Amino acid sequence: MKQSLFAVFSIIICSFLLSACAAPQTMRPHGTNAEIMAEQIKQSEVALKRLVNDSRHVQKIGHPILAKNTNFCGEDVAIDYGFSIWNIYDVGVNYKIAADNIYSLGENLQVFQVIPNSPAAKAGLKRGDKVKSVNGTPFPYGKGASKKYHKIIRNKKENKKASIVINRQGIEKTVNLTGKEICHYPLMVTESDVVNAYADGDYIYITRGMLRFIDTDQELALVIAHELGHNAMGHIKKMKQNAVTGAIAGAILDAALGTSGFSNMGSDIGRMSHSIGFEQEADYAGMYFLKRAGYSTNGAANFWRRMAANNSSSINRRSSSHPSSPERFVDINKTHDEIMAKVKAGKALEPELKPKTEFVKTNKNRGALND
Ligand SMILES: [Zn+2]
Repeated sequence: MKQSLFAVFSIIICSFLLSACAAPQTMRPHGTNAEIMAEQIKQSEVALKRLVNDSRHVQKIGHPILAKNTNFCGEDVAIDYGFSIWNIYDVGVNYKIAADNIYSLGENLQVFQVIPNSPAAKAGLKRGDKVKSVNGTPFPYGKGASKKYHKIIRNKKENKKASIVINRQGIEKTVNLTGKEICHYPLMVTESDVVNAYADGDYIYITRGMLRFIDTDQELALVIAHELGHNAMGHIKKMKQNAVTGAIAGAILDAALGTSGFSNMGSDIGRMSHSIGFEQEADYAGMYFLKRAGYSTNGAANFWRRMAANNSSSINRRSSSHPSSPERFVDINKTHDEIMAKVKAGKALEPELKPKTEFVKTNKNRGALND
């Protein structure tokens, strides 16, 4: 891309030098500033709607994966009511006018998504409801409110009952909900075009590049389950322990899942030991998480054939941090066989652990494998 831009730039410079007076010859219509600004708002609205739809879809597909695997999430289990929230500070600066126009998004947290058949759905909560208080405590408000909310939820373990006061189009209503346990790793969509997904121990991120690449709900579920594998197995903490250089692993980037297109952050992480083993472990545990959430594991490995067709550099070699795509395809298929044998035998669907290891449930280890 850079090269071709440079080429275009050079050609323009050359023609300028050869003939300084040369200029476009056509009489073209041109919009006024006001017209262009109006169109700018329109396009922001179209783009925001698409981003919101993408995010809601990710939450819908990912919710069962987080809800059905709480056994493996240690202390990161929270009470969930089946709705997510946002306010104006959760959208980029270019979307603020659009968010106000389409969703009347302001300082108050409002309901972003309601998961089908969840306690929130059954209680009649709707997208756009403004949340005022929970069990008599006012809801966070203004800048940073979403993060504050997630902190409150993360620390709320005991009381599953919630009495929530909402405001729907000016009318206050009280909604009573009984929550269920969930792995508290909120699913985030980032605007990057790189085919990527990552986990940082607190959240799971999927890029829009990845969403464009993904072909089916099963593929999306596979990616989310893999990232849950990183968080649930405590990989961030272990990579920090393994970091010889003192570089800090902020997140596990599955950048292009084996391409050379790593960011600086990615290459720091890539230097750390055991990374490929962690990737294989996230693939392995992720397949169990997928099946436990009610998704089929049959044919899930095909994701890696499609990925290879998209990015052939992963076919013949491992990257510094990720297995090759043929390795991943073969291992995931073998995991599918292992899972199906357990289903047939009526055995519990749990990843096989090395002897003398167990899932530990302490806050520090975040359900990591103690080996
Ligand atoms: Zn990974």
